[in-house]
Amino acid sequence: METGMTEIRTLNVPGYERVLRCRDARGGLDAVIAIHDTTLGPAAGGCRMWPYASEREAVADALRLARGMTHKAAAAGLPLGGGKTVLIGDSRRGKSPELFRALGRVVESLGGAYYTGEDVGVSTADMAEIRRETRYVAGLADTSGDPSPVTAAGVLHGIRAAARHRLGSAALDGLTVAVQGLGHVGFALCERLRAAGARLIVADIAPEAVARAVSELGATAADPDEIVGVEADVFAPCALGGVIDGDAAGRLRAAIIAGAANNQLAAPAHGAALHRRGILYAPDYVINAGGLINISWDVLRPGELYDRAAALAEVARIGGRLADIFARGARRNRPPEEIADALARERLAPPAAAA
Ligand code: NAD
Repeated sequence: METGMTEIRTLNVPGYERVLRCRDARGGLDAVIAIHDTTLGPAAGGCRMWPYASEREAVADALRLARGMTHKAAAAGLPLGGGKTVLIGDSRRGKSPELFRALGRVVESLGGAYYTGEDVGVSTADMAEIRRETRYVAGLADTSGDPSPVTAAGVLHGIRAAARHRLGSAALDGLTVAVQGLGHVGFALCERLRAAGARLIVADIAPEAVARAVSELGATAADPDEIVGVEADVFAPCALGGVIDGDAAGRLRAAIIAGAANNQLAAPAHGAALHRRGILYAPDYVINAGGLINISWDVLRPGELYDRAAALAEVARIGGRLADIFARGARRNRPPEEIADALARERLAPPAAAA
């Protein structure tokens, strides 16, 4: 298949509706678009740019993220499916309007089966370039905008729900929260945590982000290699996925893990290990659904004026959703992510439909 001068190859991946490998020499487009499942509605999922070490790594990330989006939409009660784009490249050097326009043409060629948006390494300005080629893009400056502050608002609701369940109170006043990653979501989360009276310990591989959190929010800086194990009530992963591996599950000292990053558990066994240690894990795709809820406005209500207050009210329901998951998990002595997965699966294939 070809869209203009873009070479598009379909990868046959069991369990996925469509996986495309796209290359366009002009803008340097080198992408994977994965559509996991559109049972509930069109697939939605942002576009991430990352210097993947290999094509294999990029495809694996796209697949994992797209699948996560299916669960995220199902858990949030949205009539959307799961998809994701990953761009192989360095977001500081490898971006160009041509790259995003080439991607936009591929997205347009999918005829609305997939809506893209921003993610790590990609900005609202990049989305504007994509918009020149396709209507299937959400989170533009003149529509719902950058979803990150809304994601952060949802994570804060999730942290409160986790604190109520694990520590007996939703008050964050006096709690210490260790935040890993001070990007679009992480920094906005820190601002909200600080306003709620929490003490902050922060880490980022970008020293300027840490310096800003220290000077503007009174945060204490930690080494990026040490943040997982610092003494804190809550550990909030807001960088990349896979952060809870066997090593981290053993080093963690926080009672709660609740943050924005996608795919926080490197493997399901690590969730079970946390559960055994009495560490409460807020399933990532439930707590970080605020951004998807926000961009769903553009996908599901095209042409309607975006209403931030209504979106935030919807996002506030994340707290109740997590409280329910924690309570069910406690009753059955099962890890919360297992309960969340079961609820999402039920929504994708209700028992009557599955029979
Ligand atoms: P971002 O690129 O703006 O921020 C990521 C930050 O993490 C950067 O500052 C980066 O320097 C830092 N980082 C990378 N590796 C690190 C490490 N090893 N240690 C410490 N810091 C590190 O991305 P974002 O939009 O803030 O998203 C953060 C996470 O939340 C991602 O996993 C993303 O998929 C997820 N998420 C984002 C949204 C959203 O609305 N933006 C919604 C849902 C989930």
